[in-house]
Amino acid sequence: MFKIGCHLSTSEGYYSMGQRIINLGGNTFQYFTKNPKGRAQTKTPSPEDVSALRELILSRGMTMPLAHAPYTYNPCSKDEEVRRYSGESMHGELVFLENLPGSMYNFHPGCHVGQGVEQGVCYISDMLNRALWGGMHTTVLLETMAGKGTEIGRSFEELRMIIDRVDSGLRDNLGVCFDTCHVNDAGYDIVNDLDGVLLEFDRIVGIDRLRAVHLNDSMNPMGSHKDRHAKIGEGTIGLSAIKRIINHPALCDRPFYLETPNDEPGYGGEIALLTEAYYG
Ligand code: FE
Ligand code: FE
Ligand code: ZN
Repeated sequence: MFKIGCHLSTSEGYYSMGQRIINLGGNTFQYFTKNPKGRAQTKTPSPEDVSALRELILSRGMTMPLAHAPYTYNPCSKDEEVRRYSGESMHGELVFLENLPGSMYNFHPGCHVGQGVEQGVCYISDMLNRALWGGMHTTVLLETMAGKGTEIGRSFEELRMIIDRVDSGLRDNLGVCFDTCHVNDAGYDIVNDLDGVLLEFDRIVGIDRLRAVHLNDSMNPMGSHKDRHAKIGEGTIGLSAIKRIINHPALCDRPFYLETPNDEPGYGGEIALLTEAYYG
């Protein structure tokens, strides 16, 4: 089955997201766990709302959603308070996600802000060692990044360095979210050499760790380190490469999440287009 969905706003509640994605023709979705750009607490959903969503997902055979951490977290900040806040908040969100067992949780590894990759990697894995626990029911995903500024996660090697430093008992709960815009902007040629890129991912990280795909076109050329998402088929990746991505044997059973610049009807159009193009 093609697992496809898009990013949705939590403003109408959790159950509403489940209903809306069904109406858009999808079967999974992504949402921000909190206000993405500030520390202000978004209102906590009621337990009834969350369990209604869980029941809907289970009864329809849908895929548990992907939660996305706010951008305000920087696990490898220079500022100890920011590192502590990021880790404690992430832990709190992972505790909450036990109400939706089988969820995935995606975060940006962070910016090392001049401290260097090695120091950044240490801080990130230290945070994961504190925020995760053995026996949790959520898979935590490191997102592949475009390499804007001092972003960590711009190469598969950097992701591998983080995973290697996480306690072995927690590594089963770790994966990677492959963002097609970011990977393109980071300099991997997914348009002309998708097989080669996925082989490289497998060699460095292990393809089993690739648990979700953010499906985006890019406004900028490969290697630009920019991170500006484009609608499907309207960027430098293009529709035919995106069709190869969703149908690639190493990827086709993973869930795909659109983060393209669209409103909900626009997402519905892209879901229909991709569903038509999917043969698994
Ligand atoms: Fe992201
Ligand atoms: Fe993304
Ligand atoms: Zn992005």
